Amino acid sequence: MSRDMRMETLAIHGGQTPEPVTGAIMPPVFQTSTYVQQGVGDHTGYEYARTQNPTREALERSISSLERAVETVAFASGSAATAAIQHLLPPGAKVVCGDDVYGGTWRQFTKLWVNRDIHYRFVDTSTVDPVEAVPEGTDLVWLESPTNPLLKITDIAALATRAKEVGALVAVDNTFATPIFQRPLELGADLVVHSTTKYIGGHSDVIGGVVSAATTELAERLRFIQNGIGAVPGPWDTWLTLRGIKTLALRMERHHQNALAICDWLDTRSDVKRIWYPLHKSHPHHELATAQMSGFGGMISFELDVDLAFSERFCANTQIVALAESLGGVESLIELPAAMTHASIPPETRAEIGITDGLIRLSVGIEHVDDLIADLEQALAAAG
Ligand code: PLP
Repeated sequence: MSRDMRMETLAIHGGQTPEPVTGAIMPPVFQTSTYVQQGVGDHTGYEYARTQNPTREALERSISSLERAVETVAFASGSAATAAIQHLLPPGAKVVCGDDVYGGTWRQFTKLWVNRDIHYRFVDTSTVDPVEAVPEGTDLVWLESPTNPLLKITDIAALATRAKEVGALVAVDNTFATPIFQRPLELGADLVVHSTTKYIGGHSDVIGGVVSAATTELAERLRFIQNGIGAVPGPWDTWLTLRGIKTLALRMERHHQNALAICDWLDTRSDVKRIWYPLHKSHPHHELATAQMSGFGGMISFELDVDLAFSERFCANTQIVALAESLGGVESLIELPAAMTHASIPPETRAEIGITDGLIRLSVGIEHVDDLIADLEQALAAAG
């Protein structure tokens, strides 16, 4: 499959071939734990399903073609994919991490990996000078761009150039942007992580994660970790995720258009103090965002000029937009990061990075945008 093809085509055909025995256009769900061998050691290349599963491999090839990766390794969740990358590090390793990463990533690094002699330093990679951000002796730079929930944008190419100077790997969590809008390996990153639970799966029905690698050497090490740790996704989950990818390009475009229309509406409201969306004129990294990405998807955060009780009533009063954690599905979701997704971050750290009690995060779905705006409008009125 030619990599010159457009993303819409790759999302459907990238890395896919009809199943050889029947010609099935979608890979079957290979629901098996083991494979029969013709003689000892004489097998088709498939021995045991933790190590090899054709449905999982079809998903991995699909994501490799979208992320322009040498190889992709699938895991049971985005968090397991994050952990797999930490397993690449030697004891005593030094990691530079963005200061506005997913709360669960922050928790994994600061509560689990620190006990394994891995040292994390959290910096605002969206503002700090790359040389200052990534000192000599750094082993890994961990970036989210756009970040969750403040949608800060980091100059991936600049950080990757600096990381190469000091011999550090760069891993980018590309969950918010998806390869449709941003491809970090093309910007010099070594590894890309996704919680495929979000936009890639796209239908809020499956948990999963992947790591895409820029080199065969990294891919081989990750494959060893995948098999050794065994946090693999099941065949149904990988099949559902692959089915979701078929419409990824279409969905991302609609998420983006709906989010833009909601930003315009939020702009007209006097009770909205601030909007975070990379295309919004007030966004501090607007220029970099438009240079680095080709679209922005459906994540918007905004701050209401109200107290926490009002914000809670507002979120509880939406009727179409569901009050729920997670993001990236076809249905719109609303949440309060300080009390929900980012509650594991201590209040003083949240305050430092701008996750206030009045901050609302919207995952804008692909419903008709007029219905979404009407719903948000009535919920604001009901909260008041
Ligand atoms: N990365 C980001 C940006 C996320 O938002 C999440 C989950 O919300 C994760 C990683 C973790 O993924 P999972 O929930 O699939 O373990």
